[in-house]
Amino acid sequence: MQQNSTYIPPANDFVFNLTAYPPGKPITQLSRELGIPEEKIIKLASNENPLGMSPKAKQAIQNLLNSANDGIARYPDQFALSKKIADRCQIQQNQIVLGNGSNNLLDIAGKIFLNKQTNAVCAEFAFSVYCLATLAANSQIRIAKAKDFGHDLSAMYDLTDENTRIIWIANPNNPTGTFLPHQEIYEFIKKVNQKFQNSVVIILDEAYNEYLPPEKRGDATKWLADFPNLIVSRTFSKIYGLAGLRIGYAAMSAELAELFHKIRTPFNANNLALLAAEVALDDQEFLSQSYQINAEGMTFLEQGLQKLGFDFIASSGNFITMFCDPNLGQNAADINQKLLENGVIIRPLMGYQMPNHLRITIGTKEENQRFLETLAKIMKK
Ligand SMILES: *Cc1c(COP(=O)(O)O)cnc(C)c1O
Repeated sequence: MQQNSTYIPPANDFVFNLTAYPPGKPITQLSRELGIPEEKIIKLASNENPLGMSPKAKQAIQNLLNSANDGIARYPDQFALSKKIADRCQIQQNQIVLGNGSNNLLDIAGKIFLNKQTNAVCAEFAFSVYCLATLAANSQIRIAKAKDFGHDLSAMYDLTDENTRIIWIANPNNPTGTFLPHQEIYEFIKKVNQKFQNSVVIILDEAYNEYLPPEKRGDATKWLADFPNLIVSRTFSKIYGLAGLRIGYAAMSAELAELFHKIRTPFNANNLALLAAEVALDDQEFLSQSYQINAEGMTFLEQGLQKLGFDFIASSGNFITMFCDPNLGQNAADINQKLLENGVIIRPLMGYQMPNHLRITIGTKEENQRFLETLAKIMKK
């Protein structure tokens, strides 16, 4: 529908200056744009699980839909899932808040803690939602220079002041895949708390936690006993394969959780998502399979990129960010465009001020092969 727009909405001034989150290009959109049949397109652009969702979770929601009273007409009850997560983390149920994706929780945090007089601190090349959630609360974002594309905690500490209300940390970070040892983050929080007496909320976003190899894995929810101002957010969108259902959670002190419940919309997690997440949490077989295929795919892509003469950032997530060196004739925008023309969707990173980098989600073996073959073909011409 075309509209002759002369209307200026009576919105808050700062809203006009926001930019919307640019999602990875959907398969359906590329199909519409270039006329490529959907089944010929692969998408390695949004860090989704290439195996889909847990078959047990799928069965559970099918059963729900098939049940006499299909459970959709009723408003959702968050009890079972939040209980299960709390038990897993060995914390109280009133320390868990569920969200419509973990993004929802990051946004709520912005609303709770930020305003025009305050600021939030994040790292250069950090997940873009931190900046969006901060600006959407009409607050100021302070960006600490990255160190080797990762968070520089001491630079973040230096940017923190008495008006800081949130420090955003992604571990591993997206889109760079960089990882900070847990102990470093623990020491950082301790240092911040000593100086600012818990007046800064630390949001530790662990969307890719489950992809960490055992020797790197840690459980930051264990720190909640030490830090009443810590929020650990996790999601069912990545290894659990439920991105389309929108469900995530955050663990925090009961005092913080109470505030989240006041600001969140009443039913911010739907029946299908709640049930699927509950079942997916227990599907060890699917989780190990997803972990395994990612580990193998990561090695395969690293070796393939190396062979084709591309550098990349070592990643602890389910994606890898490659560097296109213009001096070697590797033009990121060009490569992205040609991949699209060949039905391969990856993620360009202009929005992150990384115009020479491209992020590729680890896919199935076949998808990874198709990506590398297409890239090889493009570079030969
Ligand atoms: C994908 C992602 C999320 C989670 O998004 P959802 O809203 O849960 O789908 C959060 N943080 C980071 C760093 C991510 O990459």
